[in-house]
Amino acid sequence: MADKKLSDKEVLKHFPKIELHRHLEGTYPLDRLYEMAKKNGLDVPDTLTRFKEENQFPANGEPNFLLFLSKFRNDWYRSLDDVAFITYHSVKTLAQDGIFYIELRFNPEHYAFFNNFDRAEVTKTIIDAAKKAAKEDGIRIRFLITLNRGKQTEDDLLSMYEQIKNVSSDVCGYDLAGDETHHPPAGFQKLFQRIHSDGFPSTIHAGEVSPSSQIWDAVKLLFANRIGHGTSTARDPELQKYLIDNDIILEQCLTSNRQTGSWINTETHPFGELFHKGVPVTLNSDDPHIQNTDLTDDYLLAIRCFDLSLDDLVKLNLTAIRGSFLPDKEKAALAKDYQAALFSFKQRFGF
Ligand SMILES: [Zn+2]
Repeated sequence: MADKKLSDKEVLKHFPKIELHRHLEGTYPLDRLYEMAKKNGLDVPDTLTRFKEENQFPANGEPNFLLFLSKFRNDWYRSLDDVAFITYHSVKTLAQDGIFYIELRFNPEHYAFFNNFDRAEVTKTIIDAAKKAAKEDGIRIRFLITLNRGKQTEDDLLSMYEQIKNVSSDVCGYDLAGDETHHPPAGFQKLFQRIHSDGFPSTIHAGEVSPSSQIWDAVKLLFANRIGHGTSTARDPELQKYLIDNDIILEQCLTSNRQTGSWINTETHPFGELFHKGVPVTLNSDDPHIQNTDLTDDYLLAIRCFDLSLDDLVKLNLTAIRGSFLPDKEKAALAKDYQAALFSFKQRFGF
């Protein structure tokens, strides 16, 4: 039985967490988003409650990948100040989730498209606003740039990549997201060859709603160092062995997988089995505001469904540090500081 104290959200939210898979576009505090939408004259409901209903996945709703994706609107922003505003307030929500280090991802195209903002400028705006908020709360932060395969062609993605790749040294890697069913990894080899030869690591959304062959392709064709979701690893023992042998880390997201239909029954989610087999897995929130959850909720789910102990949670977070895209020296420093934060947590709550 998991420690009862560990299942208390008021305690668990203080447990120091390393998060590798969270989209800025899915991390908005909805009261701030509502405020901004009204300021910009958008057609929004009269009450915050109804606004939330419109912008979140319905509580107890049937799993639905397309409905989930439909919640990401790209017409909220009217100025770079709006982008900075919502970024700043999103990052301000991380402290209450116990985030110690995060690789926060965002797609510059999402923020730039509606107003045709300069892609480099919007990238810099987001990074500056996020760093300001993170610094105020003592959170360590780096950034992953998300490239969306359903929204732009490979050539357009390459051209955006060239525009933004030198904007900030705080960008530590690249991500491929979007509709994996219609846009498999094989179509993005030129793009990720370029990213790889420039020395950037990458994480690819794969095997979320597609077979494990796409995970193999992400690793073999796109040089993926980590895999987003990768739930179909469950049905491929050979792949499990490959991930262990090559220390390729899975960024798994329990609530998101239920809502999108990637894995509907959390009790049988492969996370538990993979973890106990030694496959390197980590626990992440993905899109908390759309899911109406936070990362601590996903930890609670994992503790309940897979009977995780405090030592198991620590192991997951050390795996996340190992899989982070920080340079080795910074990784070692992060691991050391994480142990100190863990010690304080244990002291404070009597573990
Ligand atoms: Zn994702």
